[in-house]
Parts: sequence; C-alpha cells; structure tokens
Amino acid sequence: MQSFHHTIIIGAGPCGLAAAIELKRAGITPLVIEKRNIAHSISQYPTYMHFFSSPELLEIGDIPFTTAHEKPSRIEALHYYRTAAQRHQVNILPYVGINAIQRQADGSFVLEGTDRFDERLSFSCSNVVIATGYFDHPNILGIPGENMDKVSHFFREAHPYVGMKVAIIGGSNSAIDAALELERVGAEVTVIYRGDGYYPGIKPWVRPLFEGKVAKGSIGMLFNSNVTEIHPRHLVVKGPEGLTELANDFVLALTGFHPDRSFLTAAGVTIEPEGYPTFNEETMETNVPGIFLAGVVASRREANEIFIESGRFHGVKIAALLAQRSNG
Ligand SMILES: Cc1cc2nc3c(=O)[nH]c(=O)nc-3n(C[C@H](O)[C@H](O)[C@H](O)COP(=O)(O)OP(=O)(O)OC[C@H]3O[C@@H](n4cnc5c(N)ncnc54)[C@H](O)[C@@H]3O)c2cc1C
Repeated sequence: MQSFHHTIIIGAGPCGLAAAIELKRAGITPLVIEKRNIAHSISQYPTYMHFFSSPELLEIGDIPFTTAHEKPSRIEALHYYRTAAQRHQVNILPYVGINAIQRQADGSFVLEGTDRFDERLSFSCSNVVIATGYFDHPNILGIPGENMDKVSHFFREAHPYVGMKVAIIGGSNSAIDAALELERVGAEVTVIYRGDGYYPGIKPWVRPLFEGKVAKGSIGMLFNSNVTEIHPRHLVVKGPEGLTELANDFVLALTGFHPDRSFLTAAGVTIEPEGYPTFNEETMETNVPGIFLAGVVASRREANEIFIESGRFHGVKIAALLAQRSNG
C-alpha cells in the first residue's frame, strides 16, 4: 500500500535533517527516508576524527551545539544531530533505501524503496528533497589492483595497521589526519600525492605537525606522484624520477567522494556540462518541478564546495518556496 506525503526527504544527514526542520517550521510535515539511520555518513567517518568546523557552524534548527574542545568530535556530532532530530520530532523512516523516483502524469512522484528485510515499499508525494550526500561514492582511481582486499577508500582507525607498510593516496585533510594517526601507532606511512606541494586546505593547526613528521622522516611524503599499479606486496609509483616500486602491505585511497547522480538523471534532472545538476540556487528546485536538492548532492563533480556549514541552509530556501506554493 502506498502512503501519500506532501514532501519526502531522502537522506537523514545534517542537510536532510535541517531541511526537515525548516519545512516543519513552515507548516509542512515531511517524511524523511533514510537507508540506515540518522547521520549515517558521519557514523562512518574515522572513529577519532574532529571536524574542522567549530560547533556553532554545524548547528541546525537553532539547537545550540557546544563542545568541551574547540572542534567537535565525530561522537559529539552524532549525539548532536540525533538530539536535534528528536527535539524537533522529525519523522524519520530508518533502514529504507530509495532506489528510484518516478514522476507521474499529474506531476506527483512515486518513490520505490527497499527495507532491511528486502521488502519493496513505495511512497507517493508531491515534492521530493534529495539529500543523499556523497559518502557512499568514493572517487575511484581506476588502476590495476584497486579491487584487492588490502585497498580501502575509507579510513576508520589505525589499530589494524600497527607495524604495517601503509600507503595513503591523496593529500587532503582525510589523508593527513590518517597519516598522523597511523604514524602514532607505529605504522610505516607514505603519503603519495599528485600535487606539487601541500594542499592549501589542510587544517592550519595540523599542517605544522605533519610537516614536522615529514622533516624527521617518520612519515614519507611523495609529491607529484601517482600510484599506477597495486600488487600484493608492492606498488608502482610514477613520480618525478619515473617509475619506482614501493614495498606495501595496505593502501588507503583517500581521494574524495562524488554525489551519485543516477537518481536525479533517472527522474529527469539534467546535468550541466560542468558536472552539477540543473537547479535554481534561490529555491534549490531542479529543472523537474517538485524535485529539490539539499546538501552536498547539489555540489559540483569535486564535491568540495558544499559542507554542512553551507548545506544546512538549503532547507530554508526549499521551505520558503513550498510554503508560498501551499499558501498560493
Ligand atoms: C572526514 C570528514 C570530515 C568533515 N568535516 C567537516 C567539517 O568540519 N565541517 C563541515 O561543514 N563539513 C565537513 N565534512 C563534510 C560534511 O560531512 C558533508 O558535507 C555532509 O555530511 C553533507 O551532509 P548531507 O546531509 O548533504 O549528506 P550526508 O551527511 O552524507 O547524508 C546523506 C544521508 O543520505 C542517506 N542516503 C544516501 N542514499 C540514500 C538512499 N538511496 N535512500 C535513503 N537514504 C540515503 C545516507 O545514508 C546519509 O545518512 C566532512 C566530511 C568528511 C568526510
């Protein structure tokens, strides 16, 4: 049986939750459908990570976020988003993944989903807000050996790598933070980065620490370098000196993420030549009336320009338009 909703939000990350709260404030009670549970992406972030944002910049729904230290930890963020959703009584359906959005002749939508028992569910609604993030879709290198078990595109914690030769591919904050954590447990770490110098966005309070470890030789740093092949016991690296072999036990390919556009395109949303979906920045509505974007799913190919800090405000724009339509 199909339930009918004014608006369905797909994804209960910070930006989907913020949108739900803003819609509620505008008098619309949305259903939030989440394939796992609240703030699932954050729950998968490195166990001991700290955000680069200070807590007030991550707040949603005017619920204060205060932390003992300057930057919130992963666990504090999980606690915060859970609490914010509960305080605002956001209606969340967890453990249901949406697989397709079908536009009906009358302009409404049918969403097809699957629950954790593999049962198929469908929902109908007048509006859909897609807030599915990007964390499920790491950027793939496309090199031989990338599918081996010793390769991961996610870093959780350092302990499994004690005493191992670990190559980190990438140069962003994720790569730098992982390298420092690995060095601390006694892994032999080499960071392999295609850039010719440090990525300018490295947290300024972390960079001196990292550079100190590189200068002392306790972390290896290769600039202008790309891994071209992954083998069970070594890697092939192409650098300024040509091809070299690097002994290796594990690879962490921390090369970023990209939003999955398949939902959008299947529902008729067009993709601009620059790689981002067509939408109105004032309202977050796509070229398909009634389909909106919230959060990092609205970003360009590199997915670097929308964070929680900025994506949390998308819901305000969506709520303003939907309230106007309801009242008009
Ligand atoms: C290590 C790390 C540190 C970061 N630090 C910061 C920081 O300090 N400050 C900052 O502003 N940003 C930071 N970011 C970026 C920030 O976390 C993301 O921009 C943010 O999570 C985006 O929120 P979102 O709600 O758009 O997406 P997400 O948080 O990814 O939420 C999307 C949700 O949608 C669900 N979902 C996906 N597909 C489906 C489906 N088909 N059906 C149902 N549900 C689905 C997912 O399970 C998930 O819960 C960091 C990112 C990383 C990786």
